[in-house]
Amino acid sequence: MPRSTKIVATLGPASSDKLVLERMLAAGVDVVRFNFSHGTAEDHLARAVLVRDAAAASGREVAIMADLQGPKIRVGRFEGGKAELRNGARFVLDASAELGSAERVGLDYKDLPRDVKAGDVLLLNDGLIVLDVERVAGAEIHTLVRVGGELSNNKGINKQGGGLSAPALTAKDVRDIETAMACGADYVAVSFVKNRTDVEMARRLATIAGEKHGVRPDIIAKIERAEAVPLLREILDAADGIMVARGDLAVEVGNAAVPALQKRMIKMAREQNKLAITATQMMESMIVNAVPTRAEVSDVANAVLDGTDAVMLSAETASGRYPVEVVEAMAGIVLEADRSETVQLDKEFLDQTFLRVDQSIAYGALFTAFHLRCAAICALTESGSTTLWMSRHDVDIPIYALTPSPATSRKLALYRNVHPLLLPKTDDRDASLAQAERLLLAHGCVKRGDLIVLTVGEPMGQPGGTNTLKIVRVGEHA
Ligand code: PGA
Ligand code: MN
Repeated sequence: MPRSTKIVATLGPASSDKLVLERMLAAGVDVVRFNFSHGTAEDHLARAVLVRDAAAASGREVAIMADLQGPKIRVGRFEGGKAELRNGARFVLDASAELGSAERVGLDYKDLPRDVKAGDVLLLNDGLIVLDVERVAGAEIHTLVRVGGELSNNKGINKQGGGLSAPALTAKDVRDIETAMACGADYVAVSFVKNRTDVEMARRLATIAGEKHGVRPDIIAKIERAEAVPLLREILDAADGIMVARGDLAVEVGNAAVPALQKRMIKMAREQNKLAITATQMMESMIVNAVPTRAEVSDVANAVLDGTDAVMLSAETASGRYPVEVVEAMAGIVLEADRSETVQLDKEFLDQTFLRVDQSIAYGALFTAFHLRCAAICALTESGSTTLWMSRHDVDIPIYALTPSPATSRKLALYRNVHPLLLPKTDDRDASLAQAERLLLAHGCVKRGDLIVLTVGEPMGQPGGTNTLKIVRVGEHA
């Protein structure tokens, strides 16, 4: 049984090397993330070539996910690069300040003074520094340092409880979407989404920019603002999936609220037939250590048990010391957690009604394969939607997606328990089914005598056209 939960790895200085990248792919990376908070357009374009080369060399389909920076609010720069903020001292965030000191610092987001009021709590540097707002005077936010510490250039600012008015897409994001499409990105992740409009705007921009490059990316909404949480249903509706972006989310809603939110968000995503990625600090200690902590092992395994499509690595692979080892370690944890799951398929379908032919075939295949103890489910698919529906339910049977479309097969690299394989296009259904069997045999996915379930659409080649389910014993006709 192949590993069903996928691995997203962020590229950076530690992993932008062909050999390292090939070893990371061999260790189990399914999706490569480009972090647009760092690097130039040229860096990203060069990395895209590197990824496609490494994928071709290792015979794997990997997706590229472009992660936009979004309106991350930051303090300005300091005289000498940093300042020490002492508990109980007064500190001013001043939208018009130049170089900062221990008394005041500038802001890159000039509207911040309009978004905060006396009594608000501002969290700097991922929550390590806590400031209580005493009053706002024009461009100046006067605060009292509740928890001090060292503050250096360009550290992030979050407001506890959320409520900043900055739009999710900045001018830089709009330029970066162009670059991402030139990179051929399969997914665009949108940071600090606050409602469905942010997602729709990103999709419109990416679709227009993508047309020039022949790509049509899917959109992942990063849930990291407090106000996005109550609007999760509408955000999911507009997006193809979400990222549980635990870094910024934890600062806004408090660390303790995140584990339960993670479970709820993944569950909701699956119920709405959407994808979920669990991100940030999953294997943080492996930035410097060769092995993870037991808490990290549990965190990764629990995300798998929550039903996430993928677990994500950030600095661990972007700038860490062990970019290959961390993927190996993560793949090992995921595989073990995958296997420990109990399947409750019948229960999940008790209240379901199916309105579409292709969706009914997808669930029919899943159900049949589960009850007949089939060795594999094999979906001949154009868009991959059949496999999306199937993969929203846990079964201990791998789903192979056979598609003639390289773009589809790259996207499917992110889906839980879906394993894409390229199958050359033919118009003849029976020839395609026989070819599918041979391909599964050749890849060692099944063996002669195995019972498998196949789904296909007739006529062939139409997205959403799946209307046929066939059960065969492998090798009887092939
Ligand atoms: P980031 O997003 O790493 O781009 O900030 C993830 C997070 O906030 O957890
Ligand atoms: Mn973030």
